[in-house]
Amino acid sequence: MGIFIILMGVQGAGKGTQARLLSEKYGIPQVSTGDLFRAMKTQDTPLAREVQEIMKRGELISDELTNRIVRERLAQDDAQAGAILDGYPRSQGQAQALDAMLRERGQQVKLVALLELDRHLAIMRAEGRRFSLDKERTYNIYFNPPQYRVAGVWLDDKTKEPLIQREDDYRDAVVRRIDVYFETTRPLIDFYQAQGKLVHVNANQSIEAVSEALIQAVEQHR
Ligand code: ADP
Ligand code: AMP
Repeated sequence: MGIFIILMGVQGAGKGTQARLLSEKYGIPQVSTGDLFRAMKTQDTPLAREVQEIMKRGELISDELTNRIVRERLAQDDAQAGAILDGYPRSQGQAQALDAMLRERGQQVKLVALLELDRHLAIMRAEGRRFSLDKERTYNIYFNPPQYRVAGVWLDDKTKEPLIQREDDYRDAVVRRIDVYFETTRPLIDFYQAQGKLVHVNANQSIEAVSEALIQAVEQHR
């Protein structure tokens, strides 16, 4: 039986940060639909261009396409024993598709951790988010800034190269994504609560404290 863990929460709640830590601890991959869609940027097809436009506006990609890329990703060898799902499912249709996908494999979602953060902090977390060029390190200019800032430019601690910002982490798109979260994704808590899988985690604690709370929740559900 695999360990499939869903990290739910508003933009900036820390899903990506925590998914990486859990992935290292449990040796199962982080599956981020946002990362999978961003990876399509290198493709020059009408579909890939449409996906980038939708993302820039902060809207959701269709359930059909999203479910398809998740199905393909979970079919890979490294995801047979489980995965940390980051940013998926985000709608009822996706939650039902995921259940069906795992059922076919004789597996199921083990735990849904809802990282709770209020709207104001979510905006600052998303707007302040910066990445190293290789995307391996995530910083936040308000909450966990890098060591160096030269002539107004934030630099990666490791390589000293300038940090980059996501195209959809600018104010308008951030606010739109947060609205979409409260309208479309947050109602999923009832779906998972009814299955007895939901655990609430206060995301307004240090990265280490959130991580400890998550590991404790996973251990209790194993
Ligand atoms: P999400 O994937 O939920 O959108 P991220 O993991 O990308 O969120 O985190 C959003 C931003 O907030 C990043 O800049 C990250 O460095 C920062 N961050 C994440 N967790 C915390 C925390 N517990 N305290 C302060 N800053 C955090
Ligand atoms: P994220 O990196 O999770 O913040 O996602 C960035 C963007 O990718 C979102 O604003 C959506 O446009 C798209 N996206 C990511 N995951 C999903 C999903 N599960 N369903 C629909 N769209 C998604």
